[in-house]
Amino acid sequence: MYLCIKYNIFTVTNQKRLAVLGATGSIGRQTLDIIGRYPERYRATVLSAGRRVDDLIALAEKFRPRLAVIGDEALLPRLRDALVPLGIRTSAGPQALKDCVTDDDIDMVVTATVGYSGLEPTLAAIGAGKDIALANKETLVVAGELVNKRLAASKSRIFPIDSEHSAVAQCLAGEDISHVKRLLITASGGPFRTWSAERIATAKAADALKHPNWSMGRKITIDSATMLNKAFELIEAHYLFGIEPSRIEAVVHPQSIVHSMVEFDDGAVKAQLGMPDMRLPIAYAIGEHTRLTGAANTLSLADFATLTFEKPDPERFPCLTLAHRALDARGNFACVMNAANEIAVEAFLNGRIGFNDIYRTIEATLAAVPFISNPGFEDYVASNDEARSRAAEYINSL
Ligand code: NDP
Ligand code: MG
Repeated sequence: MYLCIKYNIFTVTNQKRLAVLGATGSIGRQTLDIIGRYPERYRATVLSAGRRVDDLIALAEKFRPRLAVIGDEALLPRLRDALVPLGIRTSAGPQALKDCVTDDDIDMVVTATVGYSGLEPTLAAIGAGKDIALANKETLVVAGELVNKRLAASKSRIFPIDSEHSAVAQCLAGEDISHVKRLLITASGGPFRTWSAERIATAKAADALKHPNWSMGRKITIDSATMLNKAFELIEAHYLFGIEPSRIEAVVHPQSIVHSMVEFDDGAVKAQLGMPDMRLPIAYAIGEHTRLTGAANTLSLADFATLTFEKPDPERFPCLTLAHRALDARGNFACVMNAANEIAVEAFLNGRIGFNDIYRTIEATLAAVPFISNPGFEDYVASNDEARSRAAEYINSL
């Protein structure tokens, strides 16, 4: 009996306690899959979502967090009625989404919300000294310099969930970063890789949502089709690894088996391979760059006899060029670019604009919003708001 109690105390205190933001989404659910399969290691103490309240209730019933948070305040009564009888606390709204990451019973925050909404909770987590498993790449795109400044003054660490950045981290394990020559960030090329420019111009949301290799949320799936997702990832790589932009490149690799590569100055190139299964990078991130046996599907290379690599085509995919323009310009450029893209992707998904109008909206918004060279937090908030308004105006004018 004594041993049994002691064992239980031992296992409970060794569970890592996670706040999963964006629990109802693609990354959120795959994170919960890991938590559910490895209960001796992980526990969800906080779950948050934007609007899918019934999905959040179902997840909270299963994972029994201490707290469930919904972004849309109008949905709080429904959440409360379902979860308070189970002893689960509830809250709602933008402030609650930030406050929920700072409590003492959180060891790590998994940021898996989509778009700009990830920034403030991530900054709150850094302020509270929490480690972060970062899926929300937009946080680093919008305000990478600010995030890194805040990180430098905090004990927080960021572990990337994005598969390319996880691959780079795995390639860098045990290496001296001063020997890195280039980061080669792989891209599937998306559903329009082989389409002509004329055909791309006619693409509809249903075409763009058919990603060849990955099943993801709708916004990132459209970003993959425009290849803005890859531009975001080049920016993300710069802020995560501190490699100068001229040494970070995108390489099209249609099979999505090589998740990225690092070239060293002795001529060696290291790659990380695996199935397109986000549970591997999620497990590697929440495990603070350690391996979790059985986390993801295993790769049978015989099934992928041919691995190919191509140069990306900036003519057909002009969004890709925005990465180096953003990293050259700095300031609020990428914040404005991101906001315009969010509005444009929504309009494209609703059938209001054409596929190429996404890039046009970004350009028009960048031209309309004043450049700020050294933004503080309030400038990012204001730039994001203004860019959304300008992008919406441009779309209305089309
Ligand atoms: P999904 O659209 O599947 O999920 C998004 C999640 O965020 C949902 O739980 C949603 O809640 C929540 N959410 C949306 N808006 C808000 C808001 N304003 N406030 C609070 N919560 C909100 O997205 P993904 O899981 O695909 O992507 C999440 C992030 O991870 C993105 O930044 C993406 O770029 C990145 N990523 C995703 C990959 C993938 O394989 N899916 C791969 C690499 C990176 P609800 O639905 O309840 O409204
Ligand atoms: Mg990625």
